[in-house]
Amino acid sequence: MKANGKRVISRLEEIYQCGKKEDGTYTRMAFSDEDVKGRKLFASWAETLGMTTRVDAAGNLIARMDGQDNSLPVILMGSHLDTVPDGGKYDGVLGCVGALEVCEIFKKEGYVPKHPLEVIVFTDEEGFRFGKGLTGSSAVCGQDAGISDSDLDIYGEERGKVMQSYGITSEGVKAAVRNPADIHCFLELHVEQGARLYRTKTSVGIVSSIAGVNRYEVTVTGEANHAGSTAMADRKDALVAAAGFINRIPEVTTECGNEFTVATVGTIKVTPHSVNVIPGTCTFSLEIRDTEAHIMSLVEQKLQETLGDICKKYEVSSTFVPTSFHDPAPMSDWVKENIKKAVEELGIDYSIIPSGAFHDSLIMTSVFPTAMIFVPSENGVSHSRYEYTEDKDIENGCNVLLGTILNVDKL
Ligand SMILES: [Zn+2]
Repeated sequence: MKANGKRVISRLEEIYQCGKKEDGTYTRMAFSDEDVKGRKLFASWAETLGMTTRVDAAGNLIARMDGQDNSLPVILMGSHLDTVPDGGKYDGVLGCVGALEVCEIFKKEGYVPKHPLEVIVFTDEEGFRFGKGLTGSSAVCGQDAGISDSDLDIYGEERGKVMQSYGITSEGVKAAVRNPADIHCFLELHVEQGARLYRTKTSVGIVSSIAGVNRYEVTVTGEANHAGSTAMADRKDALVAAAGFINRIPEVTTECGNEFTVATVGTIKVTPHSVNVIPGTCTFSLEIRDTEAHIMSLVEQKLQETLGDICKKYEVSSTFVPTSFHDPAPMSDWVKENIKKAVEELGIDYSIIPSGAFHDSLIMTSVFPTAMIFVPSENGVSHSRYEYTEDKDIENGCNVLLGTILNVDKL
């Protein structure tokens, strides 16, 4: 049994076209008309195959194919169809279309798996609209999705109103929780969104774990003063001190981390924010990502020490406040083993790599045996219209997913 790469690629294109907007971009923002159009198209493909479709209480679209023994736990596969603004053709969509392809091949070959199969399209993975994503997977795992009908999106629209397009409410999403005993395992095929596979010319990545993310808010406090009459020697410039610290971050992170450790300052603001006033305070975000919690703590500790030293030098003070923690999320060993077996059977080259980006699998792995299959992204570009994965890599990824499903179905 082999996946039909042409069909998969043409479906990626068809879903992409659903996001065509007047501003010239292709965007399927969660709950938008474009997103709903893409989901309808996806559901129609599943229904043509004779699969039953439903939308759960969290808005996850689920297509199901019966197995030989429907009392067995479900083999779940999928990803998301929503995109970031002006997003690409592959992020999320490949995992949904690839999962459907497995079902299509089974149907065409007259193969009935032992376990029932379900393809899941998760709700609002990206989260840029309300600043909070992974909504559908959180609900399936029984985690608080942290949403409320009164949340406002980036356009000032209320969540309660926009979620009507899925027929769901914030309060209701909890009912989408699944029992761990009902799910055999979860598999997500995805583009890497990084350049490791591409640079090393490797066809497939088996994800070892999804990097954890710790975020902090750092404030440096100096003294606001006149920019004309305060001599350089008399200044307590919060921004100059902050800049000195930020400049040291790459060095400190490289010193105490490994090749996967990253630290980033993504936002910064100063007060009073005036051209003729020396900044009195400078507040910025800091995030640290790694696949190992102890490295994340070490980097945090060294960065705090560095900040302390710099503040002393500039005679300013600082606060370092944690704002959120996500521990690194290892993938399931036995599911990974079955991916490896499939890759080896297919004779495809692979490597075992971590994921720096978040995925629904980050949440899923906390409750269900979960693993991810990566295929290369050209130059590591993603969340962009320039996102590109070669046809042969797409076909390989689908075949690895197919082979893995056949393997886990035997267990
Ligand atoms: Zn994605």
